[in-house]
Amino acid sequence: MELNWYDEMEARIPKGEVRTRFAPSPTGYMHVGNLRTALYTWLIARHNGGKFILRIEDTDQSRLVEGAVDVIYRTLKDCGLDHDEGPDVGGPVGPYIQTERRGLYGKYAELLIEKGHAYRCFCEKCEDEGEAFEKKVDPCRSLSAEESAKAVSEGKPYVVRQRIPEDGVTVFRDEIFGEISVENKTLDDQVLIKRDGLPTYNFANVVDDHLMGITHVVRGSEYLSSSPKYNLLYEGFGWDIPKYVHCSPVMRDQHNKMSKRHGDPSYEDLIAQGYITPAVVNYVALLGWSPGGEREIYSMPEMAEIFDIHGLSKSPAIFDIEKLRYFNAEYIRRMSAEEFAAVAEPYIRSAVKNPDIDAGAVAALLQQRTEVLSEIPEKLDFFDALPEYGTELFVHKKSKSDTESSLYVLEKMLPVFEALPVWDDESILGAMVSLAESEGVKNAKVMWPVRIAAAGKAVTPGGAVEICRILGRDETLRRMRIAVEKLK
Ligand code: GLU
Repeated sequence: MELNWYDEMEARIPKGEVRTRFAPSPTGYMHVGNLRTALYTWLIARHNGGKFILRIEDTDQSRLVEGAVDVIYRTLKDCGLDHDEGPDVGGPVGPYIQTERRGLYGKYAELLIEKGHAYRCFCEKCEDEGEAFEKKVDPCRSLSAEESAKAVSEGKPYVVRQRIPEDGVTVFRDEIFGEISVENKTLDDQVLIKRDGLPTYNFANVVDDHLMGITHVVRGSEYLSSSPKYNLLYEGFGWDIPKYVHCSPVMRDQHNKMSKRHGDPSYEDLIAQGYITPAVVNYVALLGWSPGGEREIYSMPEMAEIFDIHGLSKSPAIFDIEKLRYFNAEYIRRMSAEEFAAVAEPYIRSAVKNPDIDAGAVAALLQQRTEVLSEIPEKLDFFDALPEYGTELFVHKKSKSDTESSLYVLEKMLPVFEALPVWDDESILGAMVSLAESEGVKNAKVMWPVRIAAAGKAVTPGGAVEICRILGRDETLRRMRIAVEKLK
């Protein structure tokens, strides 16, 4: 055994700080549940002034997806989950990609074999890594060190299995689920190193979390049932056990976990559907974490300030798209006009191609009325082309408007608009208000027909003044003349 090498590995481990890691497998997309895990992991680190580490778990070579690691980097960056250590930024305990650490796991497996907590298994059955293997019947469990070494020297392929004690109980503690104890006889001698020499998740997570000095292991509750085996590994090596924080799943409904395969949206899907990142992050944070009180809108620094593991819930959280919509609308309303114009512009331009129409001006009409960005284009169809419409749109009780009064108003307004010295909100409004005054009618009776004539539809973002201004004088007059023809 190269004792020095192990000592050197130990010496690299940073001490005296909170260290958390997000350890995604590169699947090509970010599950809502994964995003939430990343967020809680980041929050624990930031709340405690510690380090947030990114580790890529890519040992399952059959599931590799092209470009999948980029999705992880991009998502973390967009969401503001900055990492202190990781494949791209380096750090004291790298490499941070498991396949680049492959040489290391075998050495720790050897150490564990030496300590008596693991053994080589040469059985044919080992081909099937997933199969639970009865420890009492596995003949390799009782091979002597010499017999085992001889088989290796003969070139026989093998896996390394954990040697779980036959009797006794293993107890472990989870910060959310409390203390859990399991009878060892119910635990299988799981595979630690596969025939291809790569570790299973079950081994790599323990070795890496230890060598990276991880103090809080935050992950999905699907790993809860394996945690006693991980504790036995830590104990076998003589290593400290980190704090476990297992998060209950994010569900689509009472009975089903969210799943991309069943059509539930991933983080990228939500963004493509017109949700904005800070709203998604805020909403996802509150799926299963209660900061206490009624307040719901929190910035990332505010969350980091108050985050407490003990506010995390044991019960599964249900993802509610309507609730996300509410968060999204709230975030949109709170943006500055410039920020909103920037995110809305591509959606505006997908409906409004006419370069004379100012996208920023259209954005200003939309900001208070938009819940999800993807709904923007359908609201704007009338800017590029006047829709087909019937004269019944001019009839509106509340404005005391009908086809006859509309014709009268439009014929009166046309020359006034034509003669306005400037075409801005103030003059357009002033012109309409004066007509209403001189006719002794409410403003609405003038504005209704002007807006209908300009937009050709009943529901529009913005009123007569803004729509006329944005369309420009010529186009407004052209549309008003068309209305007059229709009404005659
Ligand atoms: N690679 C595992 C996953 O994506 C990570 C589990 C963990 O955080 O330990 O599910």
